[in-house]
Amino acid sequence: MVRRIAAGALGVWLCLTLWSTWDLKAQVNGAVAEGRGGAVATVDARATEIGIDVLRRGGNAIDAAVAAAAALGVTDPFSAGIGGGGFMVIYLNDGDRIVTLDGREQAPAAIDQTLFQDPDSPTGELLPFFPQRISSGLAVGVPGTPLEWAEALNRYGTLSLAEVLQPAIALAQGGFIVDQTFAQQVDRNRDRFAAFSSTQALFLPGGQPPAVGSRFRNPDLAKTYGLLADQGVNAFYRGEIAAAIVDTVQHPPAVAEPPFRILPGAMTLTDLDLYEVRMRPPTVTSYRGYTLYGMGLPSSGGLTVGAILSLLEGFDLGQGDRSLAWHRVIEAERLAFADRNAYLGDPEYVDVPLAGLRSPDFIAARRALMGDRAPASPDFRAAPGNPLLYQSDPSPSLTGPWPTAQLEEQSGSSTTHLVVSDRSGNVVSYTFTIESIGGSGMVVPDYGFLLNNELTDFDPVSPHPNSPEPGKRPRSSMAPTLARSPEGDLLAWGSPGGPTIITTVAGMAVNLIDFGLTLPEAIAAPRISQRNTGPTQVDGGFEQTAIGQRLGELGHRLDPVAEIGAAVGLIVRPDGSTLVAAEPTRRGGGWAGVVER
Ligand code: GLU
Repeated sequence: MVRRIAAGALGVWLCLTLWSTWDLKAQVNGAVAEGRGGAVATVDARATEIGIDVLRRGGNAIDAAVAAAAALGVTDPFSAGIGGGGFMVIYLNDGDRIVTLDGREQAPAAIDQTLFQDPDSPTGELLPFFPQRISSGLAVGVPGTPLEWAEALNRYGTLSLAEVLQPAIALAQGGFIVDQTFAQQVDRNRDRFAAFSSTQALFLPGGQPPAVGSRFRNPDLAKTYGLLADQGVNAFYRGEIAAAIVDTVQHPPAVAEPPFRILPGAMTLTDLDLYEVRMRPPTVTSYRGYTLYGMGLPSSGGLTVGAILSLLEGFDLGQGDRSLAWHRVIEAERLAFADRNAYLGDPEYVDVPLAGLRSPDFIAARRALMGDRAPASPDFRAAPGNPLLYQSDPSPSLTGPWPTAQLEEQSGSSTTHLVVSDRSGNVVSYTFTIESIGGSGMVVPDYGFLLNNELTDFDPVSPHPNSPEPGKRPRSSMAPTLARSPEGDLLAWGSPGGPTIITTVAGMAVNLIDFGLTLPEAIAAPRISQRNTGPTQVDGGFEQTAIGQRLGELGHRLDPVAEIGAAVGLIVRPDGSTLVAAEPTRRGGGWAGVVER
């Protein structure tokens, strides 16, 4: 299966020739592309370009995905990078199989359920979420991204980690031109970044965010990627990078008088040493003749997208009143999130009642709760259902009282998603993150990358399936998705955006499958997001459309927000022709490219 066809010569070529003659416009010039031979879409032109070039030079989709991801670690360091984690869903043409890799961050062994309690509070008060919880050593999980890249390449790639890192090393060393999004993300994090000397030095040179149009270089990150290339991924989990990570977590590099209290974390070298990437079965959902494959626990993504669509399958959304159809989507999302919030957590730790949650009778019972109008109170919260009534396994750890989620999930625009296909028909759908934009705010001194704050995805109050425990992975919303259409098309899509990832991915399915939108239309369309939190968030002026007005008449309170998601996707047709698309405007817009136009 694993073919290691490429010689070191390819890596040398990539390093020496490609980046000196790099002409972006020649290969990637917009948010939509159509062609064959392979395709890439990411939020960043350089990352897409690098992915396309790896494909052009004979790399497969897995090689190109890792090369593009490493480039995003350079150009979009506030959303994702080697200091974080993610989930990769891969279609392998050889054997017609779907595999998924869980590279989620993991809690250190020395934490317990009091993780986010104020150590000075006699009553165990929780630390404020912002900035104390998110900008601390406490919040940092053991990163999974470097090992996920190495595992994906070892198992399914054709190039080595050293080879696919070369373009990103050149990019970090040579630099790139700062755009509005990059500068804005620094500006919005200015106070947090200024609290850490290493972060200030890298991202606030002279106390200011890098100017739009200036060249940003990150030689420390080039060095770190170089260590991974030369010494292998163990440089990160056992070598000098591991030591630097542990030191940063245990002794945050705070400035002399930080503007807020910065608490250390408990990560050790052993935590890094023992980290493993887990191969998981995909979630599988049938929806109107399509089969969707998603990411299973500890991500709630695939299961919750599946729950929403399973609830919707009982209605004919494609015909008739479009506002009634969106009303159904809102109500399905509300119920699916009530169950997600109550039951889903790391399957290594929690006996999740999956059989019940997925049983047709449970879904039918939940669907019966969906009325033709919104609930009377705009602050209504749906109660979770009881899946134990629909399965024979009693799941003793969950026999009530039903846990109530306490986590106030942020619906930010952090995280990033990329899709890649290759000439052999392999497809990668990959979402990865460092949690908040800017993660924990802590750059590992001398190594040039931000550490995640992923442990804030734990529900801070116990007992709960998603409460902090030693070695546990916090529940995620990431939903990298693949789907097979009745006509044999292979689709891939995904989005950033915290818990709105789930509603964006499900909403795109509805737009594509029920409403017949094209892929670029489904990516650009205004969005709705209901997560059992009272009002329904919308973007893109949805509230002003005729459908939005009618939803108001049906009792929905719509809450306009600036942006929901920034999706990318592709469709490979049975004849190999491929349509690939990125978000046109949200987050500054993304970039799509194909190998042959
Ligand atoms: N931590 C989030 C999750 O795993 C991703 C970060 C975000 O997109 O806000 O679901």
